[in-house]
Amino acid sequence: KSRVKTQMEMNGTAKINVPEVHTRSVSDMLEARLAAFDPESGDAEAENAFYVADLGEVYRQHLRWKTLMPRIEPFFAMKCNPDPMVMRLLASLGAGFDCASKNEIQSVLNLGVEPSRIIYANPCKQNSFVKYAYMNNVRMMTFDNAEELHKIKRFHPDAQLVLRILTDDSKSLCKLGLKFGAPLDTVASLLATAQQLDLDVIGVSFHVGSGCFDANAFGEAVIRARRVFDQAKDYGFDFKFLDVGGGFPSAHVTEGITFEKVARILGSTVDTLFGPEVRVIAEPGRYYVGSAFTLATQVVARRTIHRDSDTVAIEDEQESPSHMYYINDGMYGSFNCIMFDHQVCEPLVLLRDGEYVYGRDHPRLIQEPRGVASVWGPTCDSIDLIAANARLPLMETGDWLYFENMGAYTITAASQFNGFRRSEVLYTTTHQDVIFHI
Ligand code: PLP
Repeated sequence: KSRVKTQMEMNGTAKINVPEVHTRSVSDMLEARLAAFDPESGDAEAENAFYVADLGEVYRQHLRWKTLMPRIEPFFAMKCNPDPMVMRLLASLGAGFDCASKNEIQSVLNLGVEPSRIIYANPCKQNSFVKYAYMNNVRMMTFDNAEELHKIKRFHPDAQLVLRILTDDSKSLCKLGLKFGAPLDTVASLLATAQQLDLDVIGVSFHVGSGCFDANAFGEAVIRARRVFDQAKDYGFDFKFLDVGGGFPSAHVTEGITFEKVARILGSTVDTLFGPEVRVIAEPGRYYVGSAFTLATQVVARRTIHRDSDTVAIEDEQESPSHMYYINDGMYGSFNCIMFDHQVCEPLVLLRDGEYVYGRDHPRLIQEPRGVASVWGPTCDSIDLIAANARLPLMETGDWLYFENMGAYTITAASQFNGFRRSEVLYTTTHQDVIFHI
């Protein structure tokens, strides 16, 4: 069977313009950018909201993974944040990639990553995308329904198929089981269909749900997967592949579920139930990037609420905000995570009245009175609300706020609604070794 050459063979490694990566702390980066900003200049570029990405944080997460779960190979779920520098770093560290579409596959191949380091982990795929995977030697892909098997037979008959099973996702914020995952009572007929079609099913995948808050969910899902491994033997399959999906907590999550807890439960359950002949991968997304991105935004407008005004609907006089601040990134941009990812975003003061006021413990913040305020995005839609009841000192137009832990499911789904651009990313690393890898 002759196959078209891979993207890499055709194009060579695609060239990307590598932006400067600094070696400063995140706060130094924020401060330097604001110090260079002249509010009178009218320079829109300088006034726009921006991210500081700490690639050192991504690197530390990778090391932590390798230390605590050495058996399980991470395939970064790039949908979470396909930032080119994060991708480049993870590619150079030898991570694999979980791709959901043709474009994602293409961008990973363009980095020079071997097709064998990609799993096309979308159980419901477009015909042409399956064909694209075939043409580019991307063989591993997930499925959870019989129709998909017929599609794959037509467009990628020698794919290495991974059966995504349904697991209990009730202990997670984003319940992916509503949409994907074969219930266990459908597994037999799916395996029978795959056998009849002479397709190669190599193993099982699951996803406990994104933003999982109970480490036990991972262990229970592995036990389910073991049952499917045993069942597969009846249909002539000898599974050697387990994909434990995503749902791993970001580094800033230190209460309830922690990565240490997940690693302990998941690592030991996998080792107990699966021999060394089984290859185990995972698809972490937010784990890698959640804490690595900080977003700085300018207060572009302020509205003071006069409580007797009948133009403002005030339900509770006591608690209603006394100021409304409008910043230059919002719900239709980076803060789409509030709607799609159930994130609570806390505005913190960055620059106030010409003074750099960073961190929760800055003396000026402790001394000064704070009021209840609401913080809004820049669009003309009233859904564009970032924080309804923030406690902030009095801010002026031109002051800056920042938001931590903005790396997961933020910029990737940002739109340009109302003509606003996505916030740009500045790079730094707080781990020296990163420089050798990018
Ligand atoms: N794998 C698949 C198939 C997904 O759909 C997702 C998220 O939606 C992920 C992995 C990443 O999940 P998380 O960011 O929770 O690790």
